[in-house]
Amino acid sequence: MTRAAKRAERAAVDAGSGTHDADGAPDAPFYRAGLRFECQPSCGACCAQPGKVYVTRDEVKALAAHRGLGIAEFRRRFVRRERGALLLADRPEGGCVFLGPDLRCGVYPARPTQCRTYPFWPEIIADAATWEWEGLKCPGIGKGDVILADEIEVRSRETSSERV
Ligand code: SF4
Ligand code: SF4
Repeated sequence: MTRAAKRAERAAVDAGSGTHDADGAPDAPFYRAGLRFECQPSCGACCAQPGKVYVTRDEVKALAAHRGLGIAEFRRRFVRRERGALLLADRPEGGCVFLGPDLRCGVYPARPTQCRTYPFWPEIIADAATWEWEGLKCPGIGKGDVILADEIEVRSRETSSERV
């Protein structure tokens, strides 16, 4: 796709999602009335997808303690490096190393920030179309209680700060 086509597509998405008012000024976010989300039991879809689970050094420390391992051993078994960043290792069949056969997270109380804040990542709440698109992958989107806009922004900011 050319950059012009990409801009045209972006403009069409913005027109549909209300991210700008008639003067082109930024509008209230599409999620101003909140968004429904509730993680579904026995799903695990987001953890089974190929992807990258970034971890900070503090998170590695907390994960190692949760597993009752020393940091060096935990890193050897469960962490990989990519371009200087620390990531959780993958299962041989793909997906996160901590996703169990019961589709539950094996480190849930100590899971990394990006796991706790999903799906309220900045790139996913950028506009309504992206949020709806993510809903095709995550069956929890659109279900459960409404998460208020303030809380959505707290989780989104938390995700961003962890990626710095
Ligand atoms: S894909 Fe959505 S519903 Fe499924 S485990 Fe992940 S967050 Fe929960
Ligand atoms: S740490 Fe847990 S919640 Fe995060 S991707 Fe792995 S299995 Fe899923």
